[in-house]
Amino acid sequence: EINICWLRRDLRLEDNAALYEALRSPFPVLLLFIFDKNILSKLTDKTDARVTFIHQTLNTLNSRLQKSGSSILTRYGSPEEVWPEILNSYTVKSVYTNHDYEPYARERDDALAEYLRSEQIGFHTFKDQVIFEKNEITKADGKPYTVFTPYFRQWQQKLNEFYVKAYPIEKYAGNFLPLSPQEIPSLFDMGFETSDLDFPKKDFSSKLDLYEDKRDFPAEDATTYLGIHLRFGTLSIREAARAALAQKAEKWLSELAWRDFYMMILWHFPHTVSQSFKPAYDLIKWRNDESEFEAWCQGNTGYPIVDAGMRQLNKTGYMHNRVRMIVASFLTKHLLVDWRWGEAYFAEKLLDYEMASNIGGWQWACGSGNDAAPYFRIFNPELQTKKFDPEFKYIDRWLPAYKQQKHVQPIVEHAFARERVLKVFKEALNE
Ligand code: FAD
Repeated sequence: EINICWLRRDLRLEDNAALYEALRSPFPVLLLFIFDKNILSKLTDKTDARVTFIHQTLNTLNSRLQKSGSSILTRYGSPEEVWPEILNSYTVKSVYTNHDYEPYARERDDALAEYLRSEQIGFHTFKDQVIFEKNEITKADGKPYTVFTPYFRQWQQKLNEFYVKAYPIEKYAGNFLPLSPQEIPSLFDMGFETSDLDFPKKDFSSKLDLYEDKRDFPAEDATTYLGIHLRFGTLSIREAARAALAQKAEKWLSELAWRDFYMMILWHFPHTVSQSFKPAYDLIKWRNDESEFEAWCQGNTGYPIVDAGMRQLNKTGYMHNRVRMIVASFLTKHLLVDWRWGEAYFAEKLLDYEMASNIGGWQWACGSGNDAAPYFRIFNPELQTKKFDPEFKYIDRWLPAYKQQKHVQPIVEHAFARERVLKVFKEALNE
């Protein structure tokens, strides 16, 4: 009899809750990863860098496991097809996995739980990708917080060494199932190609000292680029939080708490994936002009800071946080395009795409979210540039045409766009 540990967005062999619990049990542990067809079939870009990232990571994990005589079992298919096949091949005592708070993943886990129950196989799930989840931080009446500041106050109060302690997997590393080397399906077999994008490294501790002062200036190389590692679990959130505590990087720690916060929000309010958190915002009469949306996507709005951001995104799969806020505000307010269109574009392009934070970020920027700024606060791209990129360093980097005065004319005039959005939003919100 064996236990299976099913890896999903926790692609690491150290400090992993489910893996630790599986290895501690008396049964040898088989590691499983499924390239989930239900997810992959929705990706339109065959060179999607995130698939390459997962593939490379699995190869690394596999080589490490092979050194100790085990291997990772990888399948390409939908989980509902793969699981019966696995249970036919092995006598399984229990399945271990870490919580995933996205609606599809929850359905997938509910279905698996039921199937395993019918086969009399145990199913054990754990908190791993956040510091606090679900109902661990609530208001006094047990309801979820929807405003970050009081949530964070309690998050900080509750945080202690226990919650950031690493799971000492090394102690039980002898408990992996001995297994001949297993092949990982090639990207080609799954209909993908290798991406040539660069992936950010994991060395972040040198960034934390100056983070608070410099994080808002997109020309500075002052943030950690850890998003993709936290998204796929190649870095443990506890390791990140430990570093923040050790270096007293409070501002950075609070950003990790934003990540927890948005995952908690998504778990409590899964409908916000497709609906505005504040329902009145779904009454807004969006213009949804397709050619203007296309201009925004390609970085051709004539607003240098917006266009530089979109070009950074298109070229690298990354965009600085300050600029994410500016381009999201511009799309929803200056162009009156539905936040869902922008959210979907980011989801396609961002290496660090993470559903909870992306939905949260977009709804915040357009005003429809929990804890969003009032709708009448509209970012002025020019003032934002003066404040955060005063020497046009970021703009020059991503939009050289601007310096050469070869850039396009503004797609819409700021004062006009401001009046227009105020009118449209007021009508919908009845204010
Ligand atoms: P750092 O500033 O070094 O922060 C470290 C980590 O903290 C990040 O990697 C991330 O995991 C977390 N974090 C930081 N800021 C936030 C935040 N505001 N909300 C939630 N978590 C945060 N973040 C994503 O991880 N995935 C997304 O898909 C995403 N979409 C966004 C869309 C919009 C419209 C906006 C305004 C923000 C979005 N963010 C998203 C949040 C933020 O912009 C990125 O996390 C950050 O820019 C990533 O860069 P970094 O890794 O260098 O972060």
